[in-house]
Amino acid sequence: MEIGFIGLGHMGFPMVSNLLAAGNIVRVYDTSDAAISLAVERGALAAHSAVELAQCVDVIITMLPTPAVVRGVFCGPEGVIAQAKQNTLIIDCSTSDPGTAVELEALAAALGKTVLDAPVSGGVPGAKAGTLTFMVGGSPSGFLAAKPILSAMGKNIVHCGTAGSGQAAKLCNNLLLGVSTIAVSESMCLGVSLGLEPDVLAQIINTSSGHCWVSEVYNPYPGVVKDAPASNDFSGGFACDLMIKDLSLALDAAHGMRQPLPMTSVSKQLFQVLSHQGHGEKDISAIVRMFKK
Ligand code: NAD
Repeated sequence: MEIGFIGLGHMGFPMVSNLLAAGNIVRVYDTSDAAISLAVERGALAAHSAVELAQCVDVIITMLPTPAVVRGVFCGPEGVIAQAKQNTLIIDCSTSDPGTAVELEALAAALGKTVLDAPVSGGVPGAKAGTLTFMVGGSPSGFLAAKPILSAMGKNIVHCGTAGSGQAAKLCNNLLLGVSTIAVSESMCLGVSLGLEPDVLAQIINTSSGHCWVSEVYNPYPGVVKDAPASNDFSGGFACDLMIKDLSLALDAAHGMRQPLPMTSVSKQLFQVLSHQGHGEKDISAIVRMFKK
């Protein structure tokens, strides 16, 4: 079995590395030649286009930035759904929106192929360590076929329900990530202004009721977590512009259901200020700069 992987960015590259480390044959494509070369150095085979990749593999995994890019790669006569072999399993790990996932699944089913939405949580550290959580939406048979493949890249592989339910779970998780990144930034900066050592404050929070994933694994205060983006000039990790996309998708999903999301709304505005100031490609933890003296 040959696995095709499209999208070799911050997340895709370490995911491919783990598929290779588990002994899989992996063919890769990205619009960046440099990204393809890095994966080839790790032992992947290169494809010159998404079409070429789709025509020769048995499973396709995508890790792309936005729903618009996902649609561009999946749809139309040159899209991977049309170009893939019969019975191909296509797993979209990008964070997209539930509506797009439902559409792609129907489009694929009509052509005898299976699409699952399987966005991930765990960030770049989880992608590198192979400990991602996969939130999978789609048919039970598709899920069963995907599970052993996803297990090479993740620890928790959860079937959330029908098509789109993986994306729904992901949006709920990421609005919490966005809000808690800002909340931890506020808390750490207040503590330092009050004279506390950042390490001491983080240690207290991480053994107290304010503890969360951001405070422990992804603390936005520079120097607290040595291998977090905040300790590396906010590079690598999860781009601020991608967080704005996710918060926008959550707000869009809530719109029409009269579901209030006030914290999500404020958080999106704050990340937009950061992006507007020219830091859209920086990791989300760069939001701490807004609060730091
Ligand atoms: P990224 O921007 O680092 O990587 C995206 C890759 O896709 C790039 O290498 C880019 O060249 C490639 N690409 C763009 N358009 C393409 C096309 N048409 N064909 C082929 N390749 C194309 O993004 P990332 O941080 O790896 O995130 C990818 C997805 O995972 C996003 O949907 C993001 O929201 C989600 N995500 C990211 C994180 C994180 O911590 N970075 C965590 C969870 C989920």
